[in-house]
Amino acid sequence: MKVEHGAVIQKFKPFVTVLSNENHGSYCESCFLKRTSLKSCTACKTIKYCGVQCQRREWNIHKLECKCLKNTAPNVPLPSVRMMLRLIIKEKLDCEDDQGDYGIWRRGFADLMSHSDDIKTDSKRCEQLTQIMFTLSSLTKGVMELPSAQHILEIFGKMLTNSFTICNGEIQSLGVGLYLGASWIDHSCDPNAVIVFEGNTLVLRAVKAIQILSTRDISVSYIDLLPTTKDRKDALREQYYFECTCSHCSNCDIMDQKKLCIKCQDNSCTGFCVKTGNTFQCCNKCGLSISENNSLLEEFEKETENKLTEIKEAKDSKDADLVLRLAKQYRNKYNRILHPLSLRHTKLADAMFDACIDLGNWTDALVYGLQTIEPYRQYYPSFSPILGVQYMKIGKLQLYLQRFQDALNSLKKAESIISVTHGKDHSLYVELAEMLHQTCQEMQM
Ligand SMILES: [Zn+2]
Ligand SMILES: [Zn+2]
Ligand SMILES: [Zn+2]
Ligand SMILES: [Zn+2]
Repeated sequence: MKVEHGAVIQKFKPFVTVLSNENHGSYCESCFLKRTSLKSCTACKTIKYCGVQCQRREWNIHKLECKCLKNTAPNVPLPSVRMMLRLIIKEKLDCEDDQGDYGIWRRGFADLMSHSDDIKTDSKRCEQLTQIMFTLSSLTKGVMELPSAQHILEIFGKMLTNSFTICNGEIQSLGVGLYLGASWIDHSCDPNAVIVFEGNTLVLRAVKAIQILSTRDISVSYIDLLPTTKDRKDALREQYYFECTCSHCSNCDIMDQKKLCIKCQDNSCTGFCVKTGNTFQCCNKCGLSISENNSLLEEFEKETENKLTEIKEAKDSKDADLVLRLAKQYRNKYNRILHPLSLRHTKLADAMFDACIDLGNWTDALVYGLQTIEPYRQYYPSFSPILGVQYMKIGKLQLYLQRFQDALNSLKKAESIISVTHGKDHSLYVELAEMLHQTCQEMQM
């Protein structure tokens, strides 16, 4: 079978899903659609559904889960614990899913790899498992018996290495899910397919033309592709226990060096100095070399990781004011060093973009959003959902700020990507098409 870019390769229904705790008030636990009115399960009062149909569909598993949740109410366990619980219940009930039209994608839960030997030697994971076991035993007390510790380890490993983050169209995380067939898909840092979600349905879409003879011919990226090769490899090893040997990983030295670049020391030059190993090279434009004993640069190298972690923590705790304050402080201090194409500059710009949107400061949001475009364009694959969504968010701001020509340009770029990565039936595409239509109308007035 040959598929063109933009084609749907396969859609998968979930084996098990869990909605994140912060989304309990706005999304249905079963179908993962955003709804203004949700009904709580009257027994546990924790899980909310959009209607009777979704509640019925989940009842098989929720019947037992409900009793467990009552044991620890009003505390709702972490998604990872709930996922484990649901997998244990699912196994107890012995209900494999209907995979009628999955063809080469058919797969059972028993067939998944667990990497249990890797986990046994991974102290961080062992600690996490101990915590999960502890919560599981208080949850299931008087309701059901837990499998053996070895079996729980197997389930834990399968969950860790095969789960997908379920996102809405704008790539904001809603929860996690296990999709048996989709767990066949391999990773590549230069993938030929992407995964998007329609509600809780996982949609695998081609972003290049692919000749499909087996599932091995298809790859997606398991991780964010922005970081350097070393950081991507570390992330894959840590979460999925494998060494990435994809073509992109063995071929992107020059891109990696640029991702770590700093500004030329000559204020009037727009060039950059790339980093090879631990040293910065001469400016790519004027050839000026970095002077030794540069105390600001030394401080920059020493302080940056901590600062970026601090800003990320502020972002995770949704403190937009703090994100902006810390990021501005950092940027002012290192203004002479931070180059707009470096990852540090880019990540900060993106954090500031989101923070300004949260605070309703559209003008600043647009400034920071635009700063991410050039590096995103250079570092992400051309059909990247993240790049498409970024263009769309920027176009939306430009439309709102009545910069219609700019809005039209951004939204058209978004359209060319999102029509492939999400497809024209996706709700995000429908929203985008409406914005494009509105922009054109405004321009004719
Ligand atoms: Zn629903
Ligand atoms: Zn319930
Ligand atoms: Zn790779
Ligand atoms: Zn220069």
